[in-house]
Amino acid sequence: MKNKKYVVVGGVAGGASAAARIRRLNENAEILILDKGPNISFSNCCLPNFFSGEINCVDNLVLFGPEGFKKMFNLEAKVNQEVIKIEADKHKVIVKDLTNGNVYEESYDYLILSPGARAIKPTNIKGIDRENVFIVKNVNDVRKIDEFVKANNVKDVVVVGGGFIGVEVAECFKKSGMNITLVEAQDQVMLSFDYDFAQMLHKELYDNGINLIVSDSVVEVEKDKVILASGREVKATMVIMAIGVTPDIEMAVDSGVEVGETGGIKVDAKFRTNLPDVYAVGDAIEVHNSITKKKTRLPLAGPAQRQARSAADGIFGRFVNNRGVIGSSAIRIFNLNAATTGLNEKECQKQGIDYMAAYILPFDKVKLLPDSSVLHFKLIFENPTGRILGAQAIGRGNATKRIDVIATMITMGGYLEDLKELELCYAPPFGTAKDVVNVAAMVGLNLLNGEYKQVPMTKITELVENGEYIIDARERAAYEASHVKGSVNIPLSEIRQRHHEIPRDRTVYIHCRTSWYSYYSIRALQGYGINNVVNIQGSFLGFSNYLYFNDKTTGRESILTGYNFN
Ligand code: FAD
Repeated sequence: MKNKKYVVVGGVAGGASAAARIRRLNENAEILILDKGPNISFSNCCLPNFFSGEINCVDNLVLFGPEGFKKMFNLEAKVNQEVIKIEADKHKVIVKDLTNGNVYEESYDYLILSPGARAIKPTNIKGIDRENVFIVKNVNDVRKIDEFVKANNVKDVVVVGGGFIGVEVAECFKKSGMNITLVEAQDQVMLSFDYDFAQMLHKELYDNGINLIVSDSVVEVEKDKVILASGREVKATMVIMAIGVTPDIEMAVDSGVEVGETGGIKVDAKFRTNLPDVYAVGDAIEVHNSITKKKTRLPLAGPAQRQARSAADGIFGRFVNNRGVIGSSAIRIFNLNAATTGLNEKECQKQGIDYMAAYILPFDKVKLLPDSSVLHFKLIFENPTGRILGAQAIGRGNATKRIDVIATMITMGGYLEDLKELELCYAPPFGTAKDVVNVAAMVGLNLLNGEYKQVPMTKITELVENGEYIIDARERAAYEASHVKGSVNIPLSEIRQRHHEIPRDRTVYIHCRTSWYSYYSIRALQGYGINNVVNIQGSFLGFSNYLYFNDKTTGRESILTGYNFN
């Protein structure tokens, strides 16, 4: 019997994974990868690291070339070959050889599309097609940028867009010694984080010398500057556009592949498109969010590679358990590690989900160790069930470990009670006896059970402006060093003697450094029959981070007498 032929369109994350899986499942299969670019199997995710010098040669970004694929996996990969049409009824694709313009056909038994997404280049920016405007999508882009930087002695760069790619590129160029302005049209970078957590990222970018401009956008690019919607001008000899990606699916659509409601290729649970024997995976497809049960797109490498394996498994009649996505991601920004999974507060509000959030600031490892540091951790859960919906973590320590635990919990349908009891590894260099995630569950259960009340730290300015009664439960020295203007210092160590000072006829707000002392104070006060005290989430450490960037860049008077990030 003739061996089946598998043609894969796109030879990077999804495509290369699918092809390799097919080979593992059938040693005799005829496998052909076609990619319109000059490289296959390169590390998209490491492209920015070339600009910082962490990767010192562009060629090192390529993991496998066609020769490597042939030698190691006995599969054929052709570069600079663009699939320009699918003729599904004839089981063939029309291919254009971009090196000489020749057009030819390739037949297939099964076709897997993994064409990815392309960077959005908005047409409404004047000068967008200038030679000093670039995107960072593949190895060729990196090469072109490198050549331009060297030829023009580039020192001033504007990066447009504060998503993953924009932030990574900005950081990497900064590390190479350039002057970087990062312009983001929204009021925060990294939309997968809530506004309060994003302020820590803003602080880190600002403190490391990135000129971060939010709530403004580039409207014009010139040879040596950009002009923003606000009228502000920023020096720039090079501009990197990183405002997002869109599925690269014109060819597929023109060939009759159906598109879903979010603009990605519509696939079923086995990654089959509407065309017979045509599958699709990766950035190009629409997926379903397993928490909201809604359609979405998630252009990330992990989902692309897992979908590719599943698509190949499905073709070979193997069981495919498509759980959809929850959205887990991580980024390192200078000395901060930031990670997130599942739904954030904004998403819960958008979806009309009744949720609560526990924001805690525990040490990432035993405090006595010199390299321990506070991890800002937010756990989001459904009210009143306690079903875990999402989490965000930012700190100098291990954020991804905690978020990965929550991702596992969400995937397995976990509740706060499950997380509270989760038995995790502990020794001082790695964590605390009750790990960050255990503590978050305990705080979450307290909130869910109404054991105390809280307000989000985003309310802090309003509380101060309204002249609310705010107790600072830190010890005197910490209060004297810096505090919220107008707050009253009643340290935890004095609360039992001074509880008579606390007004009973109004809501009273309390904070300490990380909400540990304020929580103890609330419990003690409840013992004295005082139940009108509400905790301010995040406490001093949380809101000094939260306020810092805006205080510094807007010139507004701070509501704090100073900042304390220790
Ligand atoms: P791609 O890997 O983009 O591959 C698509 C390929 O298809 C391309 O090579 C293209 O040339 C080819 N192609 C398209 N159309 C045709 C056609 N008609 N004919 C022939 N070939 C075609 N994800 C993470 O999870 N973590 C990260 O840290 C991360 N960092 C990133 C950093 C950067 C700078 C970039 C650009 C992406 C990053 N990503 C990251 C995203 C990740 O790289 C993508 O989600 C992943 O590569 C998607 O895989 P894919 O196979 O769908 O598409």
